[in-house]
Amino acid sequence: MPTLPSLNLLGDTAPAPVLGIDLGTTNSLVAVWEGNAPRVLSNEHGIAILPSVVSWTEDDSVVVGGAALARSKIAPDKTIHSAKRLIGRGAEDIQKAHLQLPYQVEDAKDRPMAMVRMGNRLISPIEVSAHVLSAARAQASQALERPVSDLNTAVITVPAYFDDAQRHATREAAKLAGLEVLRMVNEPTAAALAYGLQRGESSRILVYDLGGGTFDASVLQLEDGVFRVLATAGDTALGGDDIDSALVAHAAQGIQKKCGLNPLEDSSACSALRLAAERCKKNLSESTTAELSFHDPEAGIAWRETIQRKDFEALISPMVERSLKYCKHVLQDAGLQIEDLDELVLVGGSTRIPFVRQSVESYVGKEAQAGLNPDEIVALGAAVQGGVLAGANVNALLLDVTPLSLGIETVGGTVSKLVHRNSPIPCRATEGFTTFVDGQSAVKFHVVQGERELVADCRSLGEFILKGVPPMPAGLPKIGVEFTLDADGILRVKAKEERSGAAASIEIKPKHGLTDEEVESMLKCAWENAESDMQARRVSDLKTELETVLRSVRKNISLAERELSSNHWTRLREAIEDADDAADGDSPNTLQAVLGELEESAYPLAELLMNNLARETVTDRKVEEIIGGES
Ligand code: AMP
Repeated sequence: MPTLPSLNLLGDTAPAPVLGIDLGTTNSLVAVWEGNAPRVLSNEHGIAILPSVVSWTEDDSVVVGGAALARSKIAPDKTIHSAKRLIGRGAEDIQKAHLQLPYQVEDAKDRPMAMVRMGNRLISPIEVSAHVLSAARAQASQALERPVSDLNTAVITVPAYFDDAQRHATREAAKLAGLEVLRMVNEPTAAALAYGLQRGESSRILVYDLGGGTFDASVLQLEDGVFRVLATAGDTALGGDDIDSALVAHAAQGIQKKCGLNPLEDSSACSALRLAAERCKKNLSESTTAELSFHDPEAGIAWRETIQRKDFEALISPMVERSLKYCKHVLQDAGLQIEDLDELVLVGGSTRIPFVRQSVESYVGKEAQAGLNPDEIVALGAAVQGGVLAGANVNALLLDVTPLSLGIETVGGTVSKLVHRNSPIPCRATEGFTTFVDGQSAVKFHVVQGERELVADCRSLGEFILKGVPPMPAGLPKIGVEFTLDADGILRVKAKEERSGAAASIEIKPKHGLTDEEVESMLKCAWENAESDMQARRVSDLKTELETVLRSVRKNISLAERELSSNHWTRLREAIEDADDAADGDSPNTLQAVLGELEESAYPLAELLMNNLARETVTDRKVEEIIGGES
């Protein structure tokens, strides 16, 4: 094994505590590395869990956590939860995801960024998350008895499927809360990090993380204290919130039937019903029956039902099935069979549901690891990473992977992939490109993300233009493109023309994130269309090649007519006509045939050009002048 780097970002000074923050959809937690182990930090009441809820009071002051959660019943229109589901996304994404949110979401005035409407104000999810992070920082300050100003660095965890926009937005939220993010770690990776420290032998681990709002499945390899994420998959709209929603919908139906009123039409009733549903769900984790009740004397509603655990299990079974499908994909991606797994780690509050635990255990054929609190494990892992970054002697190095391939659009609308899906990050990839048109002084680079072969089927991440390329014949400029994907999964792309040194770069900050449907369907489409994509790519490549040969033949057409033998000239002319006819078609065989004939019939012309060039060189002109003169 390679020797492990010892990171000490802080030089010789005593390590400042780096906060490890699990910024969850429903709840957040903060932990630190202390001595030789991570520790979760509680508030003054001994409670570690900080609900990711923010509420605005009448006098416009902000309440966060448990107090805000309590206000969600009395002031639902002034209370925001699940902001993580909105962060880094556009209102359209939220609409498409069909999330049941008790507040109105619309785009910011000037860009497609989802905001929460609160009276005549729009509140950004970044601001909401910043309040949660500030509260976590304050909780840590109190627990550690250190001033808040001491605690200004953090490791924050994000779902493995968060894209660039969502990671950027999370980073912005941290900045607003006065925290510099030293590293963003994928949640399942953090869980394995906390777990791995306890063990130490080599193993392959499936991390199944079902939290409040998101689901992630990851396969990790642990060897000599080194973690490598082999593959990840997930769904940003699958979690305990959805289980609550299913119970809420069930209750609403019952209430409507009994009382003739739909509680979902009233936001305050809706919030109260959600709390009742969550309580019932949690009780069902402990006993085989639980009461789901809802009372609203003002509206004249009094309703209750005893829910059987087996009925609850039937209700949530499709969601559990969905999560197991992701596990199957993630194993496929990692190139493993179920039998290859050594360990199963369950993370997230929703894995306390016995049915969830049993279903995953029976799928994997192994008992899940016990011992760590599923609510705390991610924060503990973040604190471990914080410990590593602060210079603690932790024998662990963390490798993450990128969930989707990244590439550049090339001629003909095809994608040249520089970084492949599931490549370990941080990483760097370079590739050489050139121009397609003579005298081109500016080159546009289009950066895309996805698994398909054609740009049209991938997601556009951004574009930039490299200017100042000295005019040269097509194909001569050497443009080096470099992709740098940092440890947080944020992409920087640089292009440099070697002769002139002209350079341009871009940091990818897409306008808004991918919806879960988009991520899912991008992967699904790639699997389903692999064959037709390859065919489309072949057609596109052949067309590009045909166009290039045609262009260079046409450039010298008068020379050909003048100096080729009549046989050669007739064959070439016919080949050009056939190529023109075939150029619009989509048959790879025809394209291949006309291209072959064109290349062969243009051979005498190429010979002629070579001879002319040799003659001119002999007359003492530099090759560059000749090439330059022809462009
Ligand atoms: P997390 O995001 O990991 O904090 O998970 C929060 C989710 O776990 C919420 O949807 C909670 O309702 C759910 N949860 C917490 N405890 C339990 C429990 N005992 N039984 C069922 N779900 C739970």
